[in-house]
Amino acid sequence: MSQHHRRTKHTTASPKIRASIEARLPMPCVEGCGHLVERGQAWHVAHIQPASQGGRTTPANTGPAHAKCNLRAGGKMGAAVTNVAKRTALGRRAW
Ligand SMILES: [Zn+2]
Repeated sequence: MSQHHRRTKHTTASPKIRASIEARLPMPCVEGCGHLVERGQAWHVAHIQPASQGGRTTPANTGPAHAKCNLRAGGKMGAAVTNVAKRTALGRRAW
């Protein structure tokens, strides 16, 4: 677990935000794995623009990520770097 994920700012997505995302599932994983996040799967609220780059924890800047993908993104490079790299590589937003 990286320092990034230990910060309160990152870990406390409000229950409202989680509920609003859950209501829209299935949705593409924001970590860019190419799979949908389905209801009943283990998933986390993840930032679309990383908190470390000024992304706020708002409904517009959050989406679902598989728990595995979210934890993997928080590894060596940190979610910020990983997210940007993937988004650039794909050249599109997932939705
Ligand atoms: Zn995923």
